[in-house]
Amino acid sequence: MMKSNGIIIHDTDIGEYWKSLFLESGLDTLGIHPAGGVDAHLSLDDFLKSLEKPEVQRFIYDLKGKGFNIQLECHALSWLLPRDLYQKHPHWFRENENGERTADFNMCPSCVEALKYLEERASFLASLIPWNGENYHLWIDDVAAAPCMCERCHHLSSSDQAMIMYNSILKGLKMYNANARLAYLAYHGTMEPPTITPEKGIFLEFAPFKRRFDKCIFDPECAENAAELKYLDELLSFFGKESSKVLEYWMDNSLFSGWKKPYVKLPFNREILQKDVSFYRSKGFEHITSFGCFLGEEYAMQYGIPPVKKYVEMLSAH
Ligand SMILES: [Zn+2]
Repeated sequence: MMKSNGIIIHDTDIGEYWKSLFLESGLDTLGIHPAGGVDAHLSLDDFLKSLEKPEVQRFIYDLKGKGFNIQLECHALSWLLPRDLYQKHPHWFRENENGERTADFNMCPSCVEALKYLEERASFLASLIPWNGENYHLWIDDVAAAPCMCERCHHLSSSDQAMIMYNSILKGLKMYNANARLAYLAYHGTMEPPTITPEKGIFLEFAPFKRRFDKCIFDPECAENAAELKYLDELLSFFGKESSKVLEYWMDNSLFSGWKKPYVKLPFNREILQKDVSFYRSKGFEHITSFGCFLGEEYAMQYGIPPVKKYVEMLSAH
């Protein structure tokens, strides 16, 4: 079984501070995360532009050269299918519950033309990030659920609609890299397993965003955490364990800070982390990562170096 231990930082934190923290940490995978939300397409665009800077190239290729996996991990759909295409092709976008076509989130996954466009853009995006490796993490929009309700889609669950989009994205990625694999992000409205067959190379990425962090993930007394685990076994049997990945939030100080300044001190809970990791490994997950946003230089000046090494000790102990 392959195993990897990672952390995901904002692209705006790329620099010497994180590079040395990462090199000393014992981690082997670094995710670069242009911020999500409704402006995810702008964040991704800014990051792609920043790739022209020598210091960003140096950061990525120095770490690659030392054997680390560097991966782009972000909500990419609104970049892959730009919202301004709505003017020309409103039917490419979803129909909301009022029967109106809207470019707010996601798309109409029954529109063959839009899927074809998505495929081509995914191939183009892959060509802009040649350092990414074979595992891609290009998620649909950052929204709880925004399915298309049109005549052809309304019977499809949010998970099936997501599966159609991910299948098209992967087809595009394979045009650039025949060995490409792509994450299906189980998160919010896509936790329930889909029924549509995944393309070869789709793997499960499980992100229990609505969990509580003062209880371990499998605590049966904790209703929130139990709800997040409701479909886990089904998801693992549907997608298989190969390349399966947990995307956690133990180190996500942006979440604990409410995604705004001032930063809080990261509530690092060693005991919960240890139990959670042991649970995820027992389920057969190959890769484990956590967001590590809002832990940059500014954090260190206020609270000291964040406990990245302790986090890795916990991951490596299992
Ligand atoms: Zn539709």
